[in-house]
Amino acid sequence: MSDDPYRVLDVDKDATDAEIKRSYRKLARQHHPDRNPGDAAAEERFKAIQAAYETIGTAAARKDYDQQRRMEEMFARGGNPFSGFGGGGRGSNPFGGAGGGGFGGGFGGGQGGFDFSDILNQFMGGMGGAEQQFQQQARQQSRQQRPPQQAPPTQRGPDIEAGIDINLQQALSGTKIEFGHRRLRICKRCNGSSFNSRKTCPQCSGKGVESRSSTITVTVPAGAQHGQQLRLKKMGHEHPQGEAGDLLITIRLDAEEGRRWEGGRLIQEVAVPYSTLMLGGKIRIRTPAGKRVQIDVAEGTRIGDRRRLAGHGHDGGPLDIEFVLAEPEQVSKEQREALDKLRESGL
Ligand SMILES: [Zn+2]
Repeated sequence: MSDDPYRVLDVDKDATDAEIKRSYRKLARQHHPDRNPGDAAAEERFKAIQAAYETIGTAAARKDYDQQRRMEEMFARGGNPFSGFGGGGRGSNPFGGAGGGGFGGGFGGGQGGFDFSDILNQFMGGMGGAEQQFQQQARQQSRQQRPPQQAPPTQRGPDIEAGIDINLQQALSGTKIEFGHRRLRICKRCNGSSFNSRKTCPQCSGKGVESRSSTITVTVPAGAQHGQQLRLKKMGHEHPQGEAGDLLITIRLDAEEGRRWEGGRLIQEVAVPYSTLMLGGKIRIRTPAGKRVQIDVAEGTRIGDRRRLAGHGHDGGPLDIEFVLAEPEQVSKEQREALDKLRESGL
């Protein structure tokens, strides 16, 4: 179950929660066992889709998953997210024992959520090696008698990355969003002093920090772009004896049903009847700004073909339309007869 849930659900990493939900519904319908009786591959795919949705289908689960993935990436790069302790070095994996890949099992679908604070606790608790290394560095520095202004680098808590979803109108006008924020804060009881010392603290068990939640108000500026990042200084994890990291919030614009972002471009699906794809014709679409526009469909257009409409995208940008097949819910008697004729003719 190591599949990337974003890939399984066919969405970008910066897709909005609503977009993930829409894509899930579409895929689940498509691969539902009822629609594919006896098809083992479809059943596997269906299961994978369910598992992926359990992983990133709710805002909370997704937040945990993304956070976890970033930690993995940080360790994979060999760095210690708590800078100031000298990255790399001993390479003791704080998540050791969890299987070959470090994190290994336990985070796949079906297991339910994991406790973020547990992860960070392990992570904070596993710094013994790095800590020694840091002290060693400090000794070496004093032996070399460096001038005092060349003090060791400031220790800093890790940054936190998160996403918030707004609609296109909110992006144009700017808005304020309430954001549930969980991060490591300096322990209220020992004020961080038990970290890196022999002191014991029953509140934080000597980590100097504890996980606390709060609600913050994030101001999204007018004209915000999809994928734009806001940096909230010192709103990341606090370091018991250093400064706090930053909170990096990626703004995601939800473009509503039938639209999605692809590498910063807005794609709108346009359903076209089969006869129009084959013979060409005209079709009316509704742009993100709510405008009705008529477009020509060229003869021999294929499903998946795209066209760029300048000025009809979000905030006056381009809109890429993608032709998809209009699938009728019902077929009339007349249409059925016409289809029979088509079949006889070999089409
Ligand atoms: Zn404490």
